[in-house]
Amino acid sequence: MEQPTNTEPRCLACDQTSDVVPLINVKFRGQDLWICPQHLPILIHRPAQLADRLPGAENLSAADHGH
Ligand SMILES: [Zn+2]
Repeated sequence: MEQPTNTEPRCLACDQTSDVVPLINVKFRGQDLWICPQHLPILIHRPAQLADRLPGAENLSAADHGH
């Protein structure tokens, strides 16, 4: 994953900044991450979809059921 030099918060799913959408701060594995309300349900219900942007998410259980 490329890290731009600026640390402006961006949604981990859609890369929009807080200039465009409200961003919710989440902490995961010691990292500060940001996600917009539009993508928060993905983090809750289908975290594996974010695994390429959120290393370790493939091991998270979806909130609705385990597998
Ligand atoms: Zn988003």
